[in-house]
Amino acid sequence: MHTTALVLFSGGQDSTTCLAQALSKYERVETVAFDYGQRHSVELQARLQVLREIKAKFPQWAPKMGDDHLLDLAVLGQVSETSLTRDTAFKMEASGLPNTFVPGRNLLFLTLAAALAYRRDLQVLVTGVCETDFSGYPDCRDDTIKAMQLALSLGMDKRFLIDTPLMWIDKAATWALAHSLGGQALVELIVEHTHTCYLGDREHRHAWGYGCGQCPACELRARGFAAYSAGLSKP
Ligand code: ZN
Repeated sequence: MHTTALVLFSGGQDSTTCLAQALSKYERVETVAFDYGQRHSVELQARLQVLREIKAKFPQWAPKMGDDHLLDLAVLGQVSETSLTRDTAFKMEASGLPNTFVPGRNLLFLTLAAALAYRRDLQVLVTGVCETDFSGYPDCRDDTIKAMQLALSLGMDKRFLIDTPLMWIDKAATWALAHSLGGQALVELIVEHTHTCYLGDREHRHAWGYGCGQCPACELRARGFAAYSAGLSKP
């Protein structure tokens, strides 16, 4: 029986939904994020605000929320040139992957998360990776995650489970999942406080939250919210 979890929590819509699910499922939940020189520290601020809001608005979850960890991964900036860490525009590469792709980033995240979980005696790693929506990041695919679960469990001689609640659902279903976990209060919290926009825009407020409205992350979030809202209005 798994009762403790470490959520890879960036402060975006996906990882916030994963955190809510972990809090409804496990007894003790800790959170971890990675600071790798993101151009917009707005992400790192947003996640602290989301944690505060969840604690304040969901008293049934607050007692389960354990330590939050921030790991310095500045080394990623030394091995990659991407639009997340440098001032270059977002675009698709010839490889078919967006230039936000950092090769193996998610493998590093999971390895470090497992090392932390080992020390903190947490059994489950929860991550919001998803095969359904755009990107096609190869280190977010289900096969990669299953291979990592095996490699980490063998390599640390501890049985880890990697829980990926969003793997097979789209963004509209992610909004619906948030609603089923925390009702309208959680949907509103996600709209207001989570951050997804690649450009770090916190000035423009839309029905689906803050963002530039143009970058792929904003487009995906907006489209998902529209589809979710349309589903709600059906009889
Ligand atoms: Zn944006």
